[in-house]
Amino acid sequence: MTIRGILFDVDDTLVDYSSTARAGLLRHLAAEDLLGHFESPDTAVALWREIEEQEYPRFLAGELTFPGQQQARTARFLAHIGVAVDDPAAWFARYVALRDIAWLVFPDVPPALTALTGRAALGVVSNSSRAHQIGKLRSVGLAAHFGEAILCSDEFGSAKPDPGIFLAGCDMLGLPPDRVAYVGDRHDVDGLGARDAGLHAFWLDRAASGTSHEGVTVIHSLADMSIG
Ligand SMILES: [Mg+2]
Repeated sequence: MTIRGILFDVDDTLVDYSSTARAGLLRHLAAEDLLGHFESPDTAVALWREIEEQEYPRFLAGELTFPGQQQARTARFLAHIGVAVDDPAAWFARYVALRDIAWLVFPDVPPALTALTGRAALGVVSNSSRAHQIGKLRSVGLAAHFGEAILCSDEFGSAKPDPGIFLAGCDMLGLPPDRVAYVGDRHDVDGLGARDAGLHAFWLDRAASGTSHEGVTVIHSLADMSIG
């Protein structure tokens, strides 16, 4: 059956979140004179990432607000190196300022979106804050591809892999799920989640790092997106 719409994940699918966050964190730690607390820059980035992987799901589950998970990450990160912080929100804001200097977009993304525009309805379904993601997509010049078709878990009330948010994304495009593809970099949350919700699931495995499960199409670049 012909695919008429494509929904995209944002972070590490369209925008190179991992590289952008790494560069921002290292600029921030240098500015705060904290890099000396770590064996290496890689150690600092790994700890930051590990704490994010534990605290961000608490935001997705509704336990913490979006700023709340930022402050929780800051407090844990600094506690780990024995540094006291009076105002974790201000510390995180200084990180954001140095991270947001330059959001990186994967080079395959702009030409792929341009090629798909007009051939399929395009939208975004993201586990994040809507205001945050719209700001990010605008800053990298991708927002216009999606218009109003941007759905985020904070406004919807549940997060991927809940089938509900994938189906709401299809509704947003005005299409049934069997006419819609979902593309994301996480095999479980994006690939299996979209498959189980009845969409055409595409797992964007940029590093060619893994194998996939039945019902999930593996691609290594957005240039490989084939909608028939
Ligand atoms: Mg992602």
